[in-house]
Amino acid sequence: MTRPKTKQSPPPTTSSSPEGYCQSCGRLLPRENKTDPTPRKYCSSTCRSHGKSPYLKGIRTALIEGYHRSLDDRPTGQVILCSEVEKNTFDPTSNKDKDEKVDNNQTSSLSPTEQREESRRAARRIVAFGFPSQGIAEEGREVEAIQNGKSVETSFAKGEWGIRWK
Ligand SMILES: [Zn+2]
Repeated sequence: MTRPKTKQSPPPTTSSSPEGYCQSCGRLLPRENKTDPTPRKYCSSTCRSHGKSPYLKGIRTALIEGYHRSLDDRPTGQVILCSEVEKNTFDPTSNKDKDEKVDNNQTSSLSPTEQREESRRAARRIVAFGFPSQGIAEEGREVEAIQNGKSVETSFAKGEWGIRWK
């Protein structure tokens, strides 16, 4: 008799940030006001407005799905660079799954610097909060950030880095 594979149940979704990471850019939140009992969600007013922006929502969803698809396509342990997902999502010439792309009107109005940053913000949020919190409800696996073959804290990663299954 074959047993069905038991699947890890996804962690409960919370609206606050349990680990102390910004829900928009995924960086560690500064601990400047220890007496403030209200849990902070964002590191800055810019991140707050980004987090609530309906315009960015579609782009962010496409990036998260892009990371998930890329990780799923490769063997466990292989790193997906932020720059790869950035290219797949924003570069219309690398168009493989047309339906899953953000439409070009949206992406073209983000500057190249913002495209690069959004790709990294998405990766940081995946590492900090996990896929279920980012809209991939059925994914229970965790990811870690890797730079030069080593696990890194995403808030301090610079240059080329990426993520892989933990
Ligand atoms: Zn932030």
